[in-house]
Amino acid sequence: MKFIVVTGGVLSGIGKGVATASIGRLMCEGKRVVTLKCDGYLNVDPGTMNPLEHGEVFVLHDGAEVDMDFGHYERFLGVQCKADWSITSGKIFTSITARERKGDFLGQTIQIYPHLPNEIKRWWFSVAEREAADVVLIEIGGTVGDIENSWFIEAARQLRKDVGPKNVAYVHLTYVPFLDSVGEQKTKPAQRDISLLREKGIIPDVILCRSKHPLVVKCREKIAMFGDVSSKQVLSCHDVSSIYELPLVLAREGLPSLLNEQLAISGTLDLATWETLVTRLRDPQKMITIAVCGKYTALHDSYASISEAFTHAGAKLGCGVRLKWIDAEAFEEGRLDTNSVFEEVQGVLVPGGFGSRGVEGKIRVIQHCRMTGLPFLGICYGLQLAVVEFARNVCGLMSSHTTEVDSSTPHPVITMLESQNGLTNKGATMRLGAYTAELLQGSIVQQLYDRNSATERHRHRFEVNPAYHGVLHEKGMIFSGLNSDGRLVEYIELKDHPFFVATQAHPELSSRLEFPNPLFIGLLRAALCSKTNEHKSDENEKNAANFEHGDLLLEQQF
Ligand code: GLN
Repeated sequence: MKFIVVTGGVLSGIGKGVATASIGRLMCEGKRVVTLKCDGYLNVDPGTMNPLEHGEVFVLHDGAEVDMDFGHYERFLGVQCKADWSITSGKIFTSITARERKGDFLGQTIQIYPHLPNEIKRWWFSVAEREAADVVLIEIGGTVGDIENSWFIEAARQLRKDVGPKNVAYVHLTYVPFLDSVGEQKTKPAQRDISLLREKGIIPDVILCRSKHPLVVKCREKIAMFGDVSSKQVLSCHDVSSIYELPLVLAREGLPSLLNEQLAISGTLDLATWETLVTRLRDPQKMITIAVCGKYTALHDSYASISEAFTHAGAKLGCGVRLKWIDAEAFEEGRLDTNSVFEEVQGVLVPGGFGSRGVEGKIRVIQHCRMTGLPFLGICYGLQLAVVEFARNVCGLMSSHTTEVDSSTPHPVITMLESQNGLTNKGATMRLGAYTAELLQGSIVQQLYDRNSATERHRHRFEVNPAYHGVLHEKGMIFSGLNSDGRLVEYIELKDHPFFVATQAHPELSSRLEFPNPLFIGLLRAALCSKTNEHKSDENEKNAANFEHGDLLLEQQF
């Protein structure tokens, strides 16, 4: 079993997750690669954190709420990650104190060192064995020098002794800024950062240099000299137009052979299909603009998977997707007006969310889409608010609401799921993970999925109140997907509208570059036909005709 440890330095946000996922993509052919992420915070998982601080909470098939980097791992490696691949200081502390109470350490004083690194390595080895991994890829969150990830770094250092130097490779991602004033790349932050890593006892086998432009020879040599490695171990990890280009860049820089050499393994690599997809991304035949109207739009990472899902669907349809991030609250405060904002937009997505901020703005946006025929896709809260809007403005139940926002509304069209009643703990208690919905024959979603059922991941506490199914249905809302007992509404749509679809699930989480999610394809296809399509031309009309129902380009291979 081989281990690859990825650390990062200088500053956060330089793309360690994407770099790790790219390494995984380059090493995974014919091998079982298990991707572990170690986060220093004391929360057990990010499920209780604000996405504006931490980015998107990614949900795994098995229901675990994990760091958004797992989204990159799944999308790049084509795997389904599992709950215990996510390791936090919170989990390690909880586990160690539970074991102490059980008496596992009788007679000993439990200390940060050696007990924390030992517990971490126990976790790594047990997952690796259970998964029968060929390669265990371990990303350590944060930067070297942070107190809170120091026990993970120490565990990584010890690994070399535990498993032998030929069974572990250390990859360090550092940062090389470009100073406009002098017009050069500067290596000092990287030099300092690598010394810090060496102080912790880790000598990197590969140094990835994140930079704006390709790393110049002089800098490569300087970093190699100060890092005490050869210059072929210093790789350029420069900005690319799409994150999916990074495996190609790192392959060209020689990363696979460096790792194979260090780990004494051989591997094949065929990136031809990946390269074809990336070329399509690079060179879109047309552009469309989709508005994402949410509450966490100040940090685009809050909706990372949504943005990726649009990229995937766009690549499939040969169009580039420009996302216009709109803070839904602005419609409430009169800072924005739906008519003018959506003039240049060919489709709208209302994403998931929680609480009351921005809710009335989102409802206004949904009403605009319903009434003007602008293609609309609602996700989770987006479905629930589409139901509230319909109940108010079509069913005439003006004071309808979700009890999440107004617990005493006379028309609680959205209420707490039965299974949630009485729960007091907030962590990991939502309806989480993959559930299957039965799809209505002939509905838009059934045609898009081209199946009679669809399995998608979920993360919610509320549902469409069954007491209102009757009136909503009577007034024209189509429940195009229900869970197996028929109580829970999983998909809704409207007829006599180009595309008005919403789901209780999070379809963005399972979308891959090779297998775009059908609902995103549906929205984009409708947007391509939209009246406001900025590139409306004979050519586009021809495209539009090709995107009629039944010709959805949903085959799983290009
Ligand atoms: N707040 C809603 C619920 O808990 C929607 C959740 C979401 O959009 N993920 O049901």
